[in-house]
Amino acid sequence: MSGTIAEFDLIQRYFAVHAPRHPFNQLGIGDDCALINIPAGFQLALTTDTMVENVHFFADADPESLGHKLLAVNLSDLAAMGAEPFAVTLALTLPKVDECWLRAFSNGFMALARQHKVDLIGGDTTSGPLTLTVQAMGVVPLGGALLRSGAKVGDRIYVSGPIGDAGLGLKIKQGYICNAPEQALNAFNKPLPRVDEGLVLRDVANACIDISDGLAADLGHILERSGVGACLQWKCLPLSAEVFDYVENSGDWRMPLTAGDDYELCFTVPSDSSPQLPAGCRCIGVIEAESGLRIERAGRLESLGATGFEHFS
Ligand code: ADP
Ligand code: MG
Repeated sequence: MSGTIAEFDLIQRYFAVHAPRHPFNQLGIGDDCALINIPAGFQLALTTDTMVENVHFFADADPESLGHKLLAVNLSDLAAMGAEPFAVTLALTLPKVDECWLRAFSNGFMALARQHKVDLIGGDTTSGPLTLTVQAMGVVPLGGALLRSGAKVGDRIYVSGPIGDAGLGLKIKQGYICNAPEQALNAFNKPLPRVDEGLVLRDVANACIDISDGLAADLGHILERSGVGACLQWKCLPLSAEVFDYVENSGDWRMPLTAGDDYELCFTVPSDSSPQLPAGCRCIGVIEAESGLRIERAGRLESLGATGFEHFS
């Protein structure tokens, strides 16, 4: 990318080019490719996620939160497979070089990377409409990854934490008045990828997914891939007081089930096991043979279609 500041200077300045810290990463930023050594007995888990201005975030979004969230959504995909992250690449398409924006974005991104001991080992920088892409790499023991396809009839369905807070955060940004908006806004702006939880679940869960498009849609993927159905219990859903109030006030009880961006894990556990689960996990329903997703609420059985966010509908 040409401009006032050369591409590599920009990378040096804002992404603290350093020798890789993780032992798998032999060579990081600076050559044509990075070099990685995957030890025998492990598989590489690879994922990529893009965030586009005005599609995934508002034009005035806080750049530090954006840097955090871009990395968080990618680490969340690794968490859902039970993979341990070790490296990421970053492709930046920027309309202009705004050093203030870049510094804040980099602070958010690199702080979360350090927290998870993940090296930034490469990327690309181009000019164009603001588009942010990360590729994240993790490892799992050979054959040990958590898949969407492993749910069995009778499994208990769990979530790793509260749902609907990020959805409420979006409503607040759109004008909904909430007395205590901090938790919801924080859930929307700075989701925490459940990496440690994913590692524990590897030995426990039959199937797992991260909730990016809403619980109903994402659990729907587990059901479809596993060839099963499910019934949820409304009273078992972990809802914050603010989400509960929103539902009471608006009557929109589907919101916590259909709003995206929670980045909690949804997973299923065999009914005959009683494993030690990570703190905050809550059982919300059971896998059934009858296809489709249902929820028992106020004595009624309601059907939940796949009603999450889709890009081309
Ligand atoms: P090439 O033209 O060979 O693709 P570049 O000039 O694009 O190489 O990049 C030089 C080095 O800087 C490479 O190691 C590349 O991975 C790294 N790099 C470029 N952009 C980024 C970025 N946004 N984040 C991290 N590393 C980057
Ligand atoms: Mg390039």
